[in-house]
Amino acid sequence: MAQYTLADPGYVAEIAPKRLSTDPHDPFAPIGIRSRLREPRSDILNLGPLEKVFLLWIVGASCDGCSVAVTGATHPRLEDLMNGIIPGLPRVELVHCVVSVESGPEWIENLRMAADGELDAPYLVCWEGSIMDETLSGNGYFMGLGEDLATGRQITSLEWLDRLAPGAAAVIAVGTCATWGGIPAAAGNPTGAMGVMDHLGKDYRSTLGLPVINVPGCSPVGDNVLETAAAALLFLNGMAPLPEFDELGRPAWLFTETVHRHCPRAGYYEEGVFAEKYGDKECLVELGCWGPVVQCNISERGAIDGRGGCMNMGGICIGCTMPGFPDKFAPFYAPAPGAFVSSTTSKSVGSFIRRFRALSMRDKQVSARWEHDRDLSSGWARYRSQPRGAEKLAHRFYERIQESNKS
Ligand code: SF4
Ligand code: SF4
Repeated sequence: MAQYTLADPGYVAEIAPKRLSTDPHDPFAPIGIRSRLREPRSDILNLGPLEKVFLLWIVGASCDGCSVAVTGATHPRLEDLMNGIIPGLPRVELVHCVVSVESGPEWIENLRMAADGELDAPYLVCWEGSIMDETLSGNGYFMGLGEDLATGRQITSLEWLDRLAPGAAAVIAVGTCATWGGIPAAAGNPTGAMGVMDHLGKDYRSTLGLPVINVPGCSPVGDNVLETAAAALLFLNGMAPLPEFDELGRPAWLFTETVHRHCPRAGYYEEGVFAEKYGDKECLVELGCWGPVVQCNISERGAIDGRGGCMNMGGICIGCTMPGFPDKFAPFYAPAPGAFVSSTTSKSVGSFIRRFRALSMRDKQVSARWEHDRDLSSGWARYRSQPRGAEKLAHRFYERIQESNKS
């Protein structure tokens, strides 16, 4: 089977090339042509040699969730990148298969211009969705993206990737489908779905000398994607060194830590207190959370504009950023195999820690004046200003330790 579709020998062109708008004043002409008329804004400090770059956003087997996430990004905002108002960054001319103004042949013309070296600025490729193996598609295709106007031949997303990747300043795989294959690559799928890295191979290098950059997540945190693109653009513009990527091409500053380490519920885990049902405020590990072994920053960064995110909103981590997702995390919502051991250990140690902390907390809730007066001025409740019994002993013991630390 062929990797690319074949031309129909009996094809008669119905969409004549003359239909393609090439007038840069036409708002529906390709952005690759329209952007030539766009004057650099004089009110913006343009640092670095590049005034603009093109960002070609192409999809394969995708649900468009990554596009939704990225259009909601706030650090940086897509609009700010497109307006070129971020110091040190070139203006981004976005060629996006959903949000671009032009459509059909005019949209595809941007890709052709890039592949044939006709754009007047460098370009990045952002790929969303997994790559389906077109050799398995029989006489059809899985991922159509435009047609050749002269021959009528269907072009696939995969063919565009193969044509565009060698000339790209960087190829960024956006989301777990694009990075590792994701849900379309789950066991039993008939499409041979895979990530961009698997398709282009480990010897692939962009014109900047970069292997594929991977920003996983299903969907990814939009800020993670645009921050990574911005870091690549700073490097491209000669304004910053290449940021650090890990051995899987992930931005190291975003994906080194586990979800668990920054989870707002981690304190409950440490004290051995666990949620029994959704809606409880405690740690979710016994409900199936994989956070302790998953590399993801959503619990500290939030989903959009610092808000939301899985366990922030009461959901468990199902490992969606990980190469083993989804098969190695299935069945979802069942406790992970190691959860029993870790939660039992945490319960036994945590129950002591919790009690000692409660004693200490009680001591710190009493001011020196209340202690001296042996009275409390709050009219809200009967509150003892003095510890009694075992609590008194524990406080004395605690004070001794504190005193010895001071000396
Ligand atoms: S909810 Fe998940 S990530 Fe958060 S503390 Fe519990 S196990 Fe860790
Ligand atoms: S916390 Fe887990 S499920 Fe949520 S985005 Fe991160 S990896 Fe995916």
